[in-house]
Amino acid sequence: MSKTSTPYIGRFAPSPSGPLHFGSLVAAMASYLDARAHDGTWLVRIEDIDPPREPRGASGLILQALEAYGMLWDRDVLFQSNRHSAYDDVLTVLQQEHKLYPCTCTRKKLAGHNGVYPGYCRNVWQDTAPGEPHGLRLLCRDTTIHFQDRIQGEQSYNLTVLGDFLLKRKDSLYAYQLAVCVDDAFQGVTHIVRGVDLLDSTPRQLYLQSQLSMAHPVYAHIPVITLGDGNKLSKQNHAPAIPLDNPRPTLMKALRALGLETEPDLQACTIADILDWGVQHWSLDSLLGKKALLLAALD
Ligand code: GLU
Ligand code: ZN
Repeated sequence: MSKTSTPYIGRFAPSPSGPLHFGSLVAAMASYLDARAHDGTWLVRIEDIDPPREPRGASGLILQALEAYGMLWDRDVLFQSNRHSAYDDVLTVLQQEHKLYPCTCTRKKLAGHNGVYPGYCRNVWQDTAPGEPHGLRLLCRDTTIHFQDRIQGEQSYNLTVLGDFLLKRKDSLYAYQLAVCVDDAFQGVTHIVRGVDLLDSTPRQLYLQSQLSMAHPVYAHIPVITLGDGNKLSKQNHAPAIPLDNPRPTLMKALRALGLETEPDLQACTIADILDWGVQHWSLDSLLGKKALLLAALD
């Protein structure tokens, strides 16, 4: 009898806006452990689509940190900065299908709408492109997107409430929603494990995947690590880079952040053994429904 296993391709897809901090380490580890526990393939993709926000050397530091923490990826790293022609091809297709429209709105005009696009340019630029700088927005039907998140449970979002979103920015950079869908499909990603701060990006991505006849991955959104003030641990909050010289204590803490009950003895093991322990004990059960975890509670 031949062994049939469900293919699993997962990925960690950091934006290189700085070195890995504890919050991004936890996200990397969650996708890594989930992939390994499924005997899957684990990929790393550097989402370098926004050069002004990418300090020189950040991608290298991220990869170096993943190696120091023993999380080795299975194929060549994909850099989104090499993927512009693929993004353009998809934009051309969507344009031919009249699913995009140019948007010339200024930041000022859109202020006060909570990031939801009010549709100002929807019917303005029929067949003529504006002669001024413009972004490209996806025309979203009035429809509700349902999905089952492996951690956050049943989700539904009305696309009209989310608004037509940008696929290409006015400053001519490609938007995250476009690049992420094109590359998840290109790399055959079947399972996405990432922070819950991206939960409301998922209905947008599911919709765009449908517009492009792409397969839908399965999603799991892990809680984000928060500071005492309730804010997410992030570069904006000056989260420090994780140490590269003595990874074990931080590795143990990341396992605890993922709800795994480690025993102190484990810290004396090799990094590979600590990760193996994580793979053996991997389960989403203790994370179910959780959106945030207090950093201070992990010490
Ligand atoms: N590049 C995105 C970020 O670092 C994450 C993309 C994703 O996991 O979908 O926030
Ligand atoms: Zn507009």
